[in-house]
Amino acid sequence: MKLFKKFVWRLLIVGLIAGLVVNPVLSAGKKVLRVGFDVDDTLLFSSPAFEQGYNSGAEPYSDEFWKVVNSSDEKYSTIKKKTSQILKQYQKRGSEIFIITGRGPAGGENLKKFLNKTFAVAEKNIFFNPGDKSPLMSKLKLDIYYGDSDSDITAAQEAGAKAFRILRSPKSSYKGSYNPGKFGEKIIPDSED
Ligand SMILES: [Mg+2]
Repeated sequence: MKLFKKFVWRLLIVGLIAGLVVNPVLSAGKKVLRVGFDVDDTLLFSSPAFEQGYNSGAEPYSDEFWKVVNSSDEKYSTIKKKTSQILKQYQKRGSEIFIITGRGPAGGENLKKFLNKTFAVAEKNIFFNPGDKSPLMSKLKLDIYYGDSDSDITAAQEAGAKAFRILRSPKSSYKGSYNPGKFGEKIIPDSED
């Protein structure tokens, strides 16, 4: 009986220690991922919205231009199916979603509202960041970033995030900064449309 009690105590102690060791490992596996997405040619096929800007007579990339583009998505842009599916999967897993666009911020409230309504991403997690996205990605501590342009991939890698390449639609009017796979990043198949 005495021996049995000793055995039970030992079992309890071993169990407790194992629990203390294993639990943090399990919790670490449940880390909330911080996942970022680009907008143009990643979440949205938005060349038609840009077309509105170019046709408006506003100086390209001026505030007036961005006001037109940022207000045109609801009517003219289409949602990219594959990227949208990927985003939803992360949301189901409880990941925190961020959106970083290189567009200018003028009239940006319209784009924020549209993205919030379409993808259920909090407006406070949507950022306008013309230029290098890397410092913002670092600040937001992103684990993963999805984008179509070379600059999305290099900025993510610089910020220590894992970069994934979304393929551009062949119909996109933007042809620059596009060399899928050039930086060793994984390319998402069938992500053109
Ligand atoms: Mg883009």
